[in-house]
Amino acid sequence: MNKIYRINMRSKEIKEDMFDSSMLLGNRGLTAKIVSEEVNPTCDPLGSGNKLVLATGILAGSGVTTTGRLSFGGKSPLTNTIKESNVGGSAGAEMAKHGIKMFVIEDQPETDTWYILRIDENSNVSLEEGTDYQGFNSYKTTEMLKEKYGSKSSICVIGKAGERKLLSASIQVTDNSTGHPARAAGRGGLGALMGSKGLKAIVLEKAKSRNKLEIVDKDKFNEGKKSIINFIKESPITGVGLALLGTMAYVDVTAESNIIPVNNFSGKMINDEQKEKICANAFADRAKMHGGRSGVACQPGCIIRCSNIVNNEQGEMITSGLEYETAALFGPNCGIYDYDFLVEADRICDEFGVDTIDVANAVAVTMDAGELEWGDKEAVLDLLKEMIEGSSELGVAIGNGTAATGELLKHNRVPVCKNQGLAAYDPRNLQGMGVQYASCTQGADHTGGHPMTVEGVDHTNPEGQVDLMKNIQVPTALCDNLMCLFAFTALATPEALEAIAKSIEGALGIECDVDRLMQIGVETIKMEREFNEKAGFRPEDDVLPEFFYKEKNASGNVFGVKKEELAAMWK
Ligand code: SF4
Repeated sequence: MNKIYRINMRSKEIKEDMFDSSMLLGNRGLTAKIVSEEVNPTCDPLGSGNKLVLATGILAGSGVTTTGRLSFGGKSPLTNTIKESNVGGSAGAEMAKHGIKMFVIEDQPETDTWYILRIDENSNVSLEEGTDYQGFNSYKTTEMLKEKYGSKSSICVIGKAGERKLLSASIQVTDNSTGHPARAAGRGGLGALMGSKGLKAIVLEKAKSRNKLEIVDKDKFNEGKKSIINFIKESPITGVGLALLGTMAYVDVTAESNIIPVNNFSGKMINDEQKEKICANAFADRAKMHGGRSGVACQPGCIIRCSNIVNNEQGEMITSGLEYETAALFGPNCGIYDYDFLVEADRICDEFGVDTIDVANAVAVTMDAGELEWGDKEAVLDLLKEMIEGSSELGVAIGNGTAATGELLKHNRVPVCKNQGLAAYDPRNLQGMGVQYASCTQGADHTGGHPMTVEGVDHTNPEGQVDLMKNIQVPTALCDNLMCLFAFTALATPEALEAIAKSIEGALGIECDVDRLMQIGVETIKMEREFNEKAGFRPEDDVLPEFFYKEKNASGNVFGVKKEELAAMWK
């Protein structure tokens, strides 16, 4: 369960090593450790010195729900910061079944040859030539790879965007329920990093013998695991809510509270007619057409099941699943209120292999700059075609993300932090999220700390938001070492954390308590911030785009957290 493979893409040498689980790091923390210790922070992210790290979580292979996530890490070609992007899907769990903790992809090939990293059914690791797959999108490549290596293989693949090293390129991972590469490690252009290594795909054939994690103390582990399941089942969000509508339930909450972005974060509120078209129930109705459904588990063993499958009229899957971020940013933020369009846009991005958040923001910037009409769906589809074909300067810029598009159009309202597009929460009515975007070690990333469900806080008041977000970012970083963020919404209490600590002690035989768990979160953020500092980032870089400080939204609010307070947040 603890093998590490280092794959040198120049020499094609593959070295096997053993992972020391006593360091108590997984997923994001583990990628941060390797990147911060082994990658020169000032290196060219698309050059030979950068590394692409794939890591599973602390409890991977234990059977604790949602601990099969897979993290990709490296220096981001988009933000130039350290980066970790994680996915559900089947690949993380399959890595664990092969007994593999981590892959470190190093250096670059000397020629233009493309490669496939293959883990065969007997867990042998090899590099095979994969130039035949070059030029195909992520879905077609996956289909071809499954034909060759077996339909039950789990696959991590880049589309044409990754091959071209576009800065918003994603790594697509096969979904557990459909087998299609519908799950995206989207943020930060890690698909471009994978492309720079000449690696088109990683194929994990279904493992013949399952390398179970050797549980040290079964009673203790089972006690912790059982409590974790109970906490998740008893929470109204993780026990019921997420299975009904997934993250699409956020549409109603954010529309009511003027948080959903409209027309490139204009601060406007959507009207009742628009709300009706875009509300969560409208999505639920669309999802269940043609045999689609909600309540889908994206990875094996997830009991929360927040994903969905949306089909076309022929009953074929278009996407699995549509997330709130994609729907809000390609939707109201582009003046579009039509779920048929939104699932189509999601599929186009997944096939080409780009981050829907950055690309949708780039489209909204294009509209805001007057290049397209708000709500013009046909024009958006044409623009995405130009992106895929690389047939116009604007199309290429869209594939390079929000910042590149803003720069090309010389537009002054560009919603990015450290070059990465904002997620679908306007920070003027969710000030904590503004703190998150600005202070996150990885550019504007909502997953590193999400304040929206915190009760008893006036989210429009800038006071106290920095402390609030510090208190959220640390446990979130811990969660990012362990399991899916949605599971953690039910587990961020002292009692639930004790259950997690118990399951770790039982599984690994390593002393653990709530303090030690929190230390994992602190260590992770510390490694990331130190890397960024050496890369040249300063606390003063932790700011939002100027227009959020100046333009009032429909509720009369601007982003009001002081820049000095933000700069002092992690000093
Ligand atoms: S909660 Fe949702 S995103 Fe997380 S593992 Fe389960 S289905 Fe996937």
